[in-house]
Amino acid sequence: MSERKNIRALPLEELELVLIELGEKKFRAKQIMEWIWKKGATTFEEMSNLSVSLRTQLTDRYDFFHLTVDEKQISKDKTVKNAFRLHDGNIIEGVLIPSEERSTACISSQVGCSLTCKFCATGRLQRIRNLEPEEIFDQVKILNRQSIEMLGRPLTNIVMMGMGEPLLNYNNVIKGISYITSPDKMGMSPQRITLSTAGIAKMIKKLGDDKVKFNLALSLHAANDQKRSQIMPINEQNNLEALGEALGYFQEKTGNTITFEYIVFKDFNDGLEDASELASFAKKFISKINIIEYNPIDEGEFKQTTPEKLRAFAAFLESKKVIVNIRRSRGKDIDAACGQLANKNTQGLQFRKLKETT
Ligand code: SAH
Repeated sequence: MSERKNIRALPLEELELVLIELGEKKFRAKQIMEWIWKKGATTFEEMSNLSVSLRTQLTDRYDFFHLTVDEKQISKDKTVKNAFRLHDGNIIEGVLIPSEERSTACISSQVGCSLTCKFCATGRLQRIRNLEPEEIFDQVKILNRQSIEMLGRPLTNIVMMGMGEPLLNYNNVIKGISYITSPDKMGMSPQRITLSTAGIAKMIKKLGDDKVKFNLALSLHAANDQKRSQIMPINEQNNLEALGEALGYFQEKTGNTITFEYIVFKDFNDGLEDASELASFAKKFISKINIIEYNPIDEGEFKQTTPEKLRAFAAFLESKKVIVNIRRSRGKDIDAACGQLANKNTQGLQFRKLKETT
C-alpha cells in the first residue's frame, strides 16, 4: 500500500504551505488546484507549467486515487453502465441515462450496502466501505465526459441512487456534492442533484440543519409500518412516524419539495387502500410521488403489478390531488436499472467479487 497522501483531500491553504516548504511560490498551489479540478489532471506529469523537479517531488508525496473505468456496457436504450475501479481494487457502478432533454448520472455512495431491502440486488452485497468525496466526484466527472462524447452535451442531472445508502456516508457525500457544485470545481446547480435515501431519520434532520440546497427523495414503497418493515428492515428503527417528523423538519428548514419513490409490487402494495395510505402520508408535505417500475432481480418473491392496477393506483392518487409521475426504468437489459447494481458483468449471472474487508 502506498504511503502517499491524497492530493485532492488537501485544502488549498495546506498545499500552499507544502509548496513554500519546497521552496516554491504560493501561487503554484492555485495552479495545481486548477489542473486537478478544472482540467481533470490525474498525474502531476500533465501539469506542464510546473518545473520537472516539482512534478517529481509531488509525485513522490501525493497520489490522486482516481477512478478508472473497468468495464462499460451500453444498453439498447443507450443507457451506459460503468464498472468503476477504485484505487484499492474495489468495484462500484455508475450509470449514464440519456433521454430527449436530459442526461442524468446515477452515482454510488458506498462500496456495497449495509441495508438489506428485500427487493434490491445491491442489498445482497455486504458493505465494504464508504466512498471518499473524491470518488463521488470522479464518477460525475467521468459520466460528464461520456455524456459530452456520446450526446454532445454535459450532464443535466445527478441522482445519488446507485450503490449504497448516502445518509450512512453523510460527511463524504456532502463534501462530494460540494465539489460537484463548487464554482471552482464543477459548478453544477444543487437543484439538479437528488439524493435518495432508504430513510435514516436522524440524518434527514441533519440535512435540514445543514440547509442543503439539493433535492431529497425517500424510498417509501409502503406507507404502512407493517408492510414497510417487511421489505425494508431499516424501517424498524426509522418508522413512518420518525421519518414523517424528520421530513417535516427538513422541509421547514430548507423549503425543498420531497419526492417519494414507490415501487408498486404485485399483490403486496398495489391496492387502493395502499394508495390511500400513500396519499395521506405524502399530503403532509410539499411533495410528489415517483412510481418506479420494479426491476426483477431474481425469479423470486416480487413482481411488478399489472398495467391495469398501476393505472388505477395512479388515478386514485391523482384524485387525491397529489403529483404522480410514472417512471419507466432504463438499462434493464444490462442490469443498470434501479436496484440492479450488483457488479454483474457482461457474462451476466455471477456477482463480481468485491474485495474482502480486512
Ligand atoms: N439507498 C438509497 C439509494 C439507492 S437505491 C435508497 O434506498 O434510496 C435507489 C432507488 O432504487 C431506491 O428508491 C430503491 O428503493 C430503488 N430500487 C431498489 N431496488 C429496486 C428494484 N429492484 N427495482 C426498482 N427500484 C429499485
